Amino acid sequence: MSAILTLNAGSSSIKFGLFDAESLEEEAGGQVERIGAPKAELDLEIPGQPKVETRMAIPDHRAAVAAILEAVEPYLDGRPVVGVGHRVVHGGPDHGAPLVLDAANTEELAALEPLAPLHQPHNLAAVRAAREAFPGVVQVAVFDTAFHRGHPWVNDTYGLPRRFYDMGVRRYGFHGLSYDYISGKLADAYPALHEGRVVVAHLGNGASLCAIENGRSIASTMGFSALSGLCMGTRPGQMDPGVLLWMIDDQGMSSEEITRVLYRESGLKGLSGKTNDMRALLESEEEEAAQAVEYFVSRVAQEVAAMAVAMEGIDALVFTGGIGENAAPIRARVLRALAFLGFTLDPVANEAGDERISSGLPALVLPTNEELVIARAVKAAL
Ligand code: ADP
Repeated sequence: MSAILTLNAGSSSIKFGLFDAESLEEEAGGQVERIGAPKAELDLEIPGQPKVETRMAIPDHRAAVAAILEAVEPYLDGRPVVGVGHRVVHGGPDHGAPLVLDAANTEELAALEPLAPLHQPHNLAAVRAAREAFPGVVQVAVFDTAFHRGHPWVNDTYGLPRRFYDMGVRRYGFHGLSYDYISGKLADAYPALHEGRVVVAHLGNGASLCAIENGRSIASTMGFSALSGLCMGTRPGQMDPGVLLWMIDDQGMSSEEITRVLYRESGLKGLSGKTNDMRALLESEEEEAAQAVEYFVSRVAQEVAAMAVAMEGIDALVFTGGIGENAAPIRARVLRALAFLGFTLDPVANEAGDERISSGLPALVLPTNEELVIARAVKAAL
């Protein structure tokens, strides 16, 4: 009897999960938020029990891992943690599968930090913290880019001089753990669709689409970084790179200022002038909020059609992520915009939260589970 711990670290948060190493049943989960702030928060969720919130000082990722360990200790029941799995955003051009980590290849992954400066350093901070907390225990990196490494060249490149492709400027794509989970779910529950051409819409604070044909990623709306494609909570999505040149040359903006605008101040938040919270935007009466939602929906619908072109057709659309799973009005508007492809919204099923929300071409709502994908990779490595 043993357990697997999963860690999904962001800049100031770590999501975690505790799984039975044999059955992969999730026994505990939750997150640490506001790492570094005077009062960080640890939320612990045990299936079937109310969420427990604790506030404490958690100065860094190492302290966060220690706090997580203490929180899950009672649920270990004396069993050892035999593997720790980490979500690592970027695996670069070479990693199309999970990687058993050692000190040397962890440093190789650190060399990819410039490709994902807001995620990769924090992911690796959690790896180092877990190595100290669990000496000698197998640590596995599961990459958000890995699911997409088989993209055909035409969907892996930009129209830049070839040397940039060779230097690693590629359309990597992200949210691979979520797409991997959904693809596996389709294989189990909808085998015929799994063999077909499916567009999966992962719509959360970060948002992207993936074209999946017979279980394989063909294209994604995210590319070199997690900035492109759809309009997101605080990121703009697709835009003319000429805007960046104008920001630099005409506005004299620094790299730091542009980074802040692109990662933190754009998207739903920037367009509404208020918030990146889709639920609040849907409840708002303000015109800017309505326009932000309109732009979000329009980008999703246009890019679903683009993903369909990448597969020369579409057999189903799957919604997942916080918005995809919960925001019925957004799903309804996307499907209405895509009626020409053959989707017919079933408004009753959509509002009721059913799995299938269309007649005609199937549109499905499937909750994602990135933590389980990490745990599965650890089990396989063990
Ligand atoms: P992250 O990418 O940070 O993991 P999530 O997948 O949790 O984000 O998605 C967060 C988004 O989901 C927020 O915009 C939130 O408002 C939205 N959301 C969650 N529940 C609802 C709901 N019931 N109605 C509308 N939007 C919702």
